[in-house]
Amino acid sequence: MKRNIIVVGANQTGLVFAAFAKTAGFDVTVYEAKKQCDVAYDWTDDMVEETFEEVGMPLPPKEIYTRKRNWTFVPPEKGVNVLMDLPDDQLDMAIYRRPFNAWLLSRAECAGVKVFYETPVKHAIVENDVVLGAELENGEVVPAGLVVDCGGVNSAVRKSLPESLKITRNVDKNDTFIVRRTFFNRPENTARPKYTNRAYLKHINERGISWCTLSHDEKQADVLIGRVGEMSDKTYENALADIRRDNEIVGDKIITGGQLLQIPVRHPLSRFVANGYALLGDSACMTIPMLGSGMASGMKAGKMLSEVISSPVTENPFSVENLYRYQARFMKEIGGKHAAVDMMKNWLLNSKKGDVDFLLGKGVVSRKVLIEASAGHMIVMSPAEMAQAAVKGIAKLPLLLNLAVLLQKMKKECKTASNMPKYYDEAAFSKWEEKYEKPFRK
Ligand SMILES: Cc1cc2nc3c(=O)[nH]c(=O)nc-3n(C[C@H](O)[C@H](O)[C@H](O)COP(=O)(O)OP(=O)(O)OC[C@H]3O[C@@H](n4cnc5c(N)ncnc54)[C@H](O)[C@@H]3O)c2cc1C
Repeated sequence: MKRNIIVVGANQTGLVFAAFAKTAGFDVTVYEAKKQCDVAYDWTDDMVEETFEEVGMPLPPKEIYTRKRNWTFVPPEKGVNVLMDLPDDQLDMAIYRRPFNAWLLSRAECAGVKVFYETPVKHAIVENDVVLGAELENGEVVPAGLVVDCGGVNSAVRKSLPESLKITRNVDKNDTFIVRRTFFNRPENTARPKYTNRAYLKHINERGISWCTLSHDEKQADVLIGRVGEMSDKTYENALADIRRDNEIVGDKIITGGQLLQIPVRHPLSRFVANGYALLGDSACMTIPMLGSGMASGMKAGKMLSEVISSPVTENPFSVENLYRYQARFMKEIGGKHAAVDMMKNWLLNSKKGDVDFLLGKGVVSRKVLIEASAGHMIVMSPAEMAQAAVKGIAKLPLLLNLAVLLQKMKKECKTASNMPKYYDEAAFSKWEEKYEKPFRK
């Protein structure tokens, strides 16, 4: 049996997994389509600091991260600014992604991982429903015991799998945010905004989010506009004009960014393992559905997968029976909560005009709920909190009842999603998949 592993993609998920797997004794090679300098974005993104401790890694060097500022949530009609007001020690880290990627690469290479850049993987090689390796774009065929697909939401390798493996090949575009993130100059003499990090929910009553934040050096405005499924130039220009009206810090000159990107914002795929194959990170839709953060869950899942293959319950660590334990663990610890949060995201996106304004304006949806949902946690309200919300929202009783029903459904879905059948059994797995996906059927 082959002990070697091919990893597709060298962003943080691929590199973190590769280092763990190599340290555990496997022979690991990473293939990345891009040049090393182009893999990570040219900006900071946010992550919970405890992630590093949880996966058993040291914190990155101090010069490559700083502290995120508090978010302020703004509903569509902008009648209120809901400031999160978390103390400094509870704020996320804001990590400079390019040096972070270089740091992860050096850790992986020190562990002995081989990384090849500008070497795209064309497709998986599959025979009798067993993934036996991959073919590179340059024509080279690389046999492997395990192909770990960290190729992101549009992974060509996942798309190349035969239907018989039952893995979702194409992520529905309506389960993604199409985003444009651009850093503009901050014109001189503009006042420091009271709310430095504004996130616009259902911005201008459209299906999506936007944000405007003051960059860490306070010299630029970081503007993100994201819409579900698609975003025309006109939609972007309208939204940008609205952001400019609200935020005088947005100048005319583009400093960096501006490209159109795609983020999965759905519950994890229902199946991410097969014989000789595992999905990891964005390629399995492991992002938090509310805001699309995926760095932490990809890294945690990478640790889980390396642990599962290092302590197989069958002779073959790369068998579907063994890899299944990795998916079951991910769903128990993380995926179940994400599924519940996805239900809340859909509910918010489909809510009637005025509803989000009412819920935030009256404080029915509290700061705590917003913090929990954006962190991908399950929303649990005590009876006292429920009673308080009911008093605040009494003017819109049907909406409140609808919200209460949603919370119940989220709880149920979290339970279903977290409890996959304990051991791999195809019939039981298929039954679980059906139940798990049911609330999301369109
Ligand atoms: C604007 C924006 C803001 C974000 N903000 C945050 C945030 O604040 N916090 C957070 O946690 N997350 C954030 N995210 C999400 C985060 O970027 C992703 O969740 C994360 O990068 C996923 O990492 P990954 O390694 O799984 O996949 P990716 O980052 O998508 O990396 C996949 C890699 O695989 C390579 N690849 C693809 N196909 C092939 C192939 N066939 N052969 C070889 N290589 C291949 C790609 O070139 C790429 O380098 C944000 C995303 C965007 C777009």
